[in-house]
Amino acid sequence: MARLFVPGPTDVAPDVLAAQDQPMIGHRTQACAELLARIQPGLRRLFDTSHRVLISASSGSGLQEAAVRNCVRKRLLVCVSGAFADRWYNVAVANGVPTDRLDVAWGFPITPEMLESALLAEAYDAVAIVHNETSTGLENPIQELSLLVHELSPSTLLLIDAVSSAGGVPIKADHWGLDVVLTSSQKCLALPPGLAFAAVSDRALEKARTVPNRGWYFDFLLLDRYLTRNATPTTPALSLLFALDAQLQRIDAEGLEARFQRHARMASMVQSWSEQRFALFAQEGHRSKTVTAIRKTRPIDVHSLNEHLSKDHITVADGYGPLKSETFRIAHMGELRPVDLEKLLVMIDDFMEQPA
Ligand SMILES: *Cc1c(COP(=O)(O)O)cnc(C)c1O
Repeated sequence: MARLFVPGPTDVAPDVLAAQDQPMIGHRTQACAELLARIQPGLRRLFDTSHRVLISASSGSGLQEAAVRNCVRKRLLVCVSGAFADRWYNVAVANGVPTDRLDVAWGFPITPEMLESALLAEAYDAVAIVHNETSTGLENPIQELSLLVHELSPSTLLLIDAVSSAGGVPIKADHWGLDVVLTSSQKCLALPPGLAFAAVSDRALEKARTVPNRGWYFDFLLLDRYLTRNATPTTPALSLLFALDAQLQRIDAEGLEARFQRHARMASMVQSWSEQRFALFAQEGHRSKTVTAIRKTRPIDVHSLNEHLSKDHITVADGYGPLKSETFRIAHMGELRPVDLEKLLVMIDDFMEQPA
């Protein structure tokens, strides 16, 4: 039963939750190696990569940190089109990484033209971009941006935060030439929070070899060295891996293409509903397929709305940070289905028709 129309944590299927309820296994055992080996192909399919997908016991922000620690020797550019890119910038600065930022008005995408001027003005080891900006409901044109970076500055790495898109939207890490694509377990992948994944290219590993002080816990070279033996340097979050194993099988059973189409269909339902009643925050042509940010063009008290929805244990999300008074958000990711959204939208209509 779907309840959480918020962009993470999302609802987890009962059998995936139940998969956690297994006895512990030693992490230096054959059983654990088999588990890690079984998980790897499913993860690679999510990112459409033939390379490794590293697994970390952290939330996605941990891998934002890992990406900038491993892939930047001299200078990083962070493209900021919302709150999560702003966080990535802060993560880089907090790690002492010399970092510039390229800002665009929230609700608008980073364009190839903007990125071109930035790349002509300065040399960067890496460019960091958030694929799906969860705060504004906007999808950045990663493939176009990547093409530009490869043309203009072939040695610059592409670091992509796909926390709220991986598993809900096609991402072609190899074909698009992406070097690090990171995500969290608790969004489109519909797993409990606590795991993060990064598809890492050979180029990114080569770069990491030249970067001193990469740290230890998130060192890509160390993680990769163990992963090639189906192992992890530290004790893995075994219960979460059991859940991941079960969820990858469910994702496979649905089919990735069907999963992506389900997300796209839900996005268009919420978008058209919103446009009839409110307005959308993100620019047309760049709207997210996994979360919609809706402008409060009519008064709507999201706290009271959630009280109204709480009898069915349903929650939607208010605007994020500085957008709290201006927007609210409906996530349509993970286990949610069009029928769940139909029900939700009727309930919101009922709420809005109530006398104040
Ligand atoms: C949720 C989110 C994050 C933060 O992820 P955590 O797993 O909470 O660390 C980062 N980027 C985006 C785009 C997000 O939606």
